[in-house]
Amino acid sequence: MIVHKFGGTSVGSPERISNVADIVLKHHVNHQADPQPGTVVVVSAMSEVTDQLIQSARAAARGEDSLYREIKAGLLRRHLEAVESLLAPGTDRLEAGGAIEDKLNELERFLRSIAMLGELTARGRDAVVSFGEMLSSTILAALLRQRGVQSQAVSATSLIVTDDKFGEAGVLFPQTQINLGSHLVPLAARGVIPVVTGFIGATESGVTTTLGRGGSDFSAAILGAGIGASEVWIWSDVDGILTADPNIVSQAHTLQELSYLEAAELAYYGADVLHPKTIRPVIESGIPLRILNSFNPEHPGTRIVAAPGPNREISPAIISTTGLSLIAVSSREEAWSLALAANILHTLSQEGLPVLMFSQSFSEHSLNLVLRAQDQSHCLRVLRKEFSDDCRPHACEIKLREQIGTVSVVGLSNGGSNGIVSHAYAALGKGGTQVIAVAQPATERSVSFCIPEEQVPVTVRLLHTELGLDRA
Ligand code: ASP
Ligand code: MG
Repeated sequence: MIVHKFGGTSVGSPERISNVADIVLKHHVNHQADPQPGTVVVVSAMSEVTDQLIQSARAAARGEDSLYREIKAGLLRRHLEAVESLLAPGTDRLEAGGAIEDKLNELERFLRSIAMLGELTARGRDAVVSFGEMLSSTILAALLRQRGVQSQAVSATSLIVTDDKFGEAGVLFPQTQINLGSHLVPLAARGVIPVVTGFIGATESGVTTTLGRGGSDFSAAILGAGIGASEVWIWSDVDGILTADPNIVSQAHTLQELSYLEAAELAYYGADVLHPKTIRPVIESGIPLRILNSFNPEHPGTRIVAAPGPNREISPAIISTTGLSLIAVSSREEAWSLALAANILHTLSQEGLPVLMFSQSFSEHSLNLVLRAQDQSHCLRVLRKEFSDDCRPHACEIKLREQIGTVSVVGLSNGGSNGIVSHAYAALGKGGTQVIAVAQPATERSVSFCIPEEQVPVTVRLLHTELGLDRA
């Protein structure tokens, strides 16, 4: 059995969803003669949908009724358009369209109750964001049925059992395993292709939870390990894990084989193609992972295995992220303390606001927080309310810097990283990059720079050349 996971851009439009169906069908047929045939699909929400759902929940909590209704109407339009362009008139189209309308009406009822309470809890937020994957899985399963195979949308709330740490729930593997054995394995063994919602699960009492942003990769690995899949294939929009973003560096090349630990390390630095938790479930069972490109499905991508072959290339990689903002929270000397810094981070975590990188300065009495730009206004609102209220004796000052990016250089543990950190600093000095903040572990194997967004492409290109990664 193979688990295939498709991310948001891979299911971002009707054409992309149709392409996903082609890929699934091709491999389903090709693997029919395997000792244990069967295909399981895991999908993310259509691109940007999760962000829009979060926005709708926040709008509801602020009582901005017209905004959350507008978002809901936009979601309905987008998903119904996909149904109409993908499914021929008939029962499947009617059923899928009806299911989508029902789900979005349920979402609206949810949002209405959040608006009535005037408060958004982590539990409520998880309930709202879970709709994205429910919608995309409904459409893909219907399309697969139309293409002549048996397929069924399956909500991971009936499979993945978690604790109640809403927003970043921990998986309870033994209970999950039981569910997978009783629900998922029999379906796949009968030749049905289950299309499972990524990203979500439920507590033992059935309350919906989420596994953390980008968590659909993790879902795929949980299912793969739980059903004893032969491989887990993560389909994204680039040719595997590369030495740099190929949209920035034309010379970037794919790392063909990585060990579990190497891949986990790269994922922690924000290599968008793989969620850092994905490796954990498959390590024990040694199930190989592949990172493939749904836009270029014939490319072999990256294989992630327990013991890579002796002749594979070992190379550092550059990971870059744009679309970020930096928020600096500072206070007068006598008011600044580590406890205050900790309190700021705790507050943001409670609000479900992921901080991608931070640095603390004693001399400037400040905490620099790097967040995604779409979280910026909510973050500012929360910080102002909690920490810069003028009535407070030691109100903090909050400054915003927009259009920020990060560039990380990651050397792999077993070589190829000699002096990599000092090399990276030298390259940045040579290029005149303006470094706003730095994060570096004590191992000297990697370093992350926070820099102005517009300098990201030149910096990444320069690093790629200076670190000797360009290929002749
Ligand atoms: N849809 C979720 C997110 O945007 C999960 C995922 O895409 O993996 O975070
Ligand atoms: Mg992802």
